[in-house]
Amino acid sequence: MTAGQGYRGRFAPSPTGPLHFGSLVSALASFLDARAHRGTWLVRIEDVDGPRTVAGAADDILETLRRFGMHSDEKPVWQSEREDAYQRAFNQLLSAGFVFPCGCTRREIADSLAHAHLRHATLAYPGTCRDGLHGKPPRAWRMRVPDGDAAIFTFEDRWQGTQTQDLATEVGDFVLKRADGEWAYQLAVVVDDADCGITHVVRGADLLDSTARQIYLQRCLDVPTPVYLHVPVVENDHGEKLSKQTGATALDTAKPLAALTQAARHLSLEPLSAGSLEAFFLDATTQWARRFGP
Ligand code: GLU
Repeated sequence: MTAGQGYRGRFAPSPTGPLHFGSLVSALASFLDARAHRGTWLVRIEDVDGPRTVAGAADDILETLRRFGMHSDEKPVWQSEREDAYQRAFNQLLSAGFVFPCGCTRREIADSLAHAHLRHATLAYPGTCRDGLHGKPPRAWRMRVPDGDAAIFTFEDRWQGTQTQDLATEVGDFVLKRADGEWAYQLAVVVDDADCGITHVVRGADLLDSTARQIYLQRCLDVPTPVYLHVPVVENDHGEKLSKQTGATALDTAKPLAALTQAARHLSLEPLSAGSLEAFFLDATTQWARRFGP
């Protein structure tokens, strides 16, 4: 990718609460990467998960980003307005034979895994409804993953290096449409990144584990695979990923430079002697470009 030639990146917060330090790090990394490539930076509100969405959080996040000097280059996209696009992609996968209904409850899946005594059986869906519902009513809709060598996905992460995941043994057939009727993150993110023409995904390393699923969906939907970069996650004092649930507090919007400088340090950028937001972004972009620029 040459500088400026069609680079499109995005920051995709879930509006489950105000922006916290962990999400600021992802926002800053994706913003700097877009600036370093003279590209376009978009914000997408991932409010597809209705039950987890907190009223007012999305506007709060957008306002905080503005105060921190990060403006979406185009009108922010809201997942809740894109149900039709998810349905179309789902229908495409369904008619191609990739999707099947699943009647298992979480409990049943956990029980069958416990009984399987398989080494990798701790995580992967055991395939119970792959070949029929066994008289159970349909609950969720799952994406059939390949078997054998075709299940092994390898990709190059710009920060983390080569990544490999076996979708069959480590993940199993994964949910596209949940039992509560909500679209799953994996489907929504792939459809949105494709429709928005995203070329580069920069986000937290907690999503490394989802990337093979997303690359598989991109192939099945015949859309391009973006380039990936996953930044180290921010952890709390107990080594847990910082989130609202693990004690993250809202950022102090009165002191954007202090928080941005701390976020830059987490990204291994040298502490910046910045007197203004403009000076901070100029310096941080130059440093980022030296490491990850075109
Ligand atoms: N909405 C996801 C999150 O807040 C990020 C998804 C993504 O960047 O692909 O963790």
